[in-house]
Amino acid sequence: MASKELIKKLEDTIENIPDFPIPGIQFKDISPIFLDPKLYEDVIKDLVAFSKGKVDAVCGIESRGYLFGIAIAVALEVPFILIRKAGKLPPPIISEKYDLEYGSAVIETREGQIKKGQRILIHDDLLATGGTTEAAAKLVEKQGATVTQFSFLIGLTGLNGDEKLKKFNSEIYHILEY
Ligand code: AMP
Repeated sequence: MASKELIKKLEDTIENIPDFPIPGIQFKDISPIFLDPKLYEDVIKDLVAFSKGKVDAVCGIESRGYLFGIAIAVALEVPFILIRKAGKLPPPIISEKYDLEYGSAVIETREGQIKKGQRILIHDDLLATGGTTEAAAKLVEKQGATVTQFSFLIGLTGLNGDEKLKKFNSEIYHILEY
């Protein structure tokens, strides 16, 4: 879907930082994209083209999912809903607990912002193991909406995150794959 030029530009722009934040992780730093407004605009256009006419609302995952998610929602002229880490949103909220490598985490959204029957795009900057995104999708479905699409700038395909998301019968898109 993305042009070869866009993929190349992103590959050249996103920085790989080895062993951050812990040894063994290849951290993908997307912050240099924001130094190049034209590139940011092209990324948004690409993500918007993927979702045009297909969703009624966009859910972004804290916090890098907001950097592109809000712009996608504005361009699509649909609502944007924050999915946040536990304890940051005021009540009433809906929560979903999920497992991490060690222990567990909780994500939350304001009750009533996602409407029953809506077709939802879940967006984040990067798909790794898929644990966070899967929990976000469960949170959406708890509210009677359907996740019809997932989009990411980056998919770390070796971690098989897509496998956790396939059960939602949704379209999955990553501009870049590593
Ligand atoms: P996961 O639940 O494993 O799919 O992790 C996804 C979340 O962790 C995303 O919100 C990413 O921003 C962040 N993340 C995981 N791995 C990386 C990585 N190698 N580089 C940058 N961010 C990462």
